[in-house]
Amino acid sequence: MFTKSLWNTFSKDTKFPSLKTDISVDVAIIGGGITGITTALLLKKAGLKVAVFEAREIGKGTTGHSTGNLYVVTDQLFSPIASKYDVEVLKQVVRSRSEAFQLIKNYVQEYNIDCDYKEQDMFIYEDDKTSKIEKEKKIAGDAGIAVTEMTASHNPNTFPFDFENGIVLQEQATFNPLLYVQELARQAQGNNCSIYENTKVEQIEEGENESLLTTSLGKVVAKYVVHATHSPKGVEIQYHTVLGPYREYGVAVKLEDDSMYPDGIYWGHYNNQKFSIRTYNRNGEKFLLCIGKPHKVGQAEDNEQHIQELVTFLEKRFRISEVSFKWGGQHYKPADYLPYIGRKSDNSNQLIATGFSTDGLIYGTLSAIILSDLISNKKNTFSELFKASRHQPLKAAGEFVKENIDVAKEFIADRFNTEDVEIRDIKPGEAKIIEREGQKAAVYRDTEGEISINSALCTHMGCIVHWNNAENTWDCPCHGSRFDLKGEVIEGPAFKALKKIN
Ligand SMILES: Cc1cc2nc3c(=O)[nH]c(=O)nc-3n(C[C@H](O)[C@H](O)[C@H](O)COP(=O)(O)OP(=O)(O)OC[C@H]3O[C@@H](n4cnc5c(N)ncnc54)[C@H](O)[C@@H]3O)c2cc1C
Repeated sequence: MFTKSLWNTFSKDTKFPSLKTDISVDVAIIGGGITGITTALLLKKAGLKVAVFEAREIGKGTTGHSTGNLYVVTDQLFSPIASKYDVEVLKQVVRSRSEAFQLIKNYVQEYNIDCDYKEQDMFIYEDDKTSKIEKEKKIAGDAGIAVTEMTASHNPNTFPFDFENGIVLQEQATFNPLLYVQELARQAQGNNCSIYENTKVEQIEEGENESLLTTSLGKVVAKYVVHATHSPKGVEIQYHTVLGPYREYGVAVKLEDDSMYPDGIYWGHYNNQKFSIRTYNRNGEKFLLCIGKPHKVGQAEDNEQHIQELVTFLEKRFRISEVSFKWGGQHYKPADYLPYIGRKSDNSNQLIATGFSTDGLIYGTLSAIILSDLISNKKNTFSELFKASRHQPLKAAGEFVKENIDVAKEFIADRFNTEDVEIRDIKPGEAKIIEREGQKAAVYRDTEGEISINSALCTHMGCIVHWNNAENTWDCPCHGSRFDLKGEVIEGPAFKALKKIN
């Protein structure tokens, strides 16, 4: 199966150069998604010399695989934060998200960004009587968050879904996240801000006053390093142990009847499963999006089935003329409901922004505000609440990595070859993990019959990768690193490609 996000279709070519020489900057930003690009723009405005290094193309990571909804609530709704902390913390979270939301709105206006930004009502509802939403309504009220109750007037003709209970948040928004980030990058580029595409950071060595970054093309000296890579690169046990990596899927369909595309953002809760639905309209061409069916990375038996269930959900409620796009995206759930934004550890000049769940278009923008304030020594009201180093590193990290690197070294290529019966029997388009004398290989036969064999050991911390049959990738169930058919890193904390066997 081949997956491609809707947003890629409407992408404008960015064509930023690759790094050609060694350079020196105040701040090196790794990753050109919404977090990295917004951070670069804010730091440039603060008078610093910055450079963004993007391994692939600007905005085409998770940002270009999201739903493109902007809202002040979070995926968990209100009650988990209010219960774990208190209503005051919930208020702060909503206030911080409102500020980041406003920054996006300001940039859309200031730079006249053609990204189909549209203010919308957001409907959060349930189709059973679990009273989940009833509780959320009460907590929102306690925290002074403006929500109204969904009424019979939302049903049945004006509202496309059955519901028992629901709330409405007004003045939320939808946009095309890829067009937004691509244009923001164009606006940031120049005068002390350089943006490089196809430039992968392969190593970071932090010194007392400066860090040295080794990229695939040149070296970079920087006073500060920002990991805007969605999850921090390298072995960062203190973060990997508190981040749950999930894959979640999206489909975009066309409807038979043009008048049936609903306006608004819909979060429907059906038997404790959330489906997120919205319409995208670009110059009159409309699509209905449905996002959901998450699972832990590398832990689904049949990824394609997850995507099919989204299509089935829509088919039960709309007359579909075409399933136009199917895709997957990654997110990292923080253990304590709040993202980790700030210095990697108290004295480090490496800064991170992670644990956004599926709320990172706003949290990524908020990270940019907090990190740029930290670097330019400005006070930030929210930096303490989201402080990244609120968890202490585990001392055992170094030992753990050493153990796993030793395992990888002992891999013996001779044990796996294309004459092996089990390998020979793999059909075109199929993949399998094969074990010989305690060693595991990730084997794939392409549609032309060509076999590729890589070590099945994730280069991050040595877990065994798992085949993803929807996206044709090898996904690591431990910390979410993902590899393409050549074994190259697509995303996650791993720096290095899977070791090639043939
Ligand atoms: C299905 C889904 C739907 C979502 N919907 C929404 C939504 O509606 N609203 C919302 O607010 N959030 C949503 N999110 C969450 C949101 O998309 C993400 O949190 C956000 O896009 C993260 O942005 P980022 O810039 O931090 O990461 P990314 O966009 O992933 O950018 C990180 C970049 O780093 C680059 N990179 C990685 N390693 C290296 C390296 N070694 N060297 C150089 N570059 C590197 C990658 O190529 C990538 O481009 C959704 C997420 C998913 C999975």
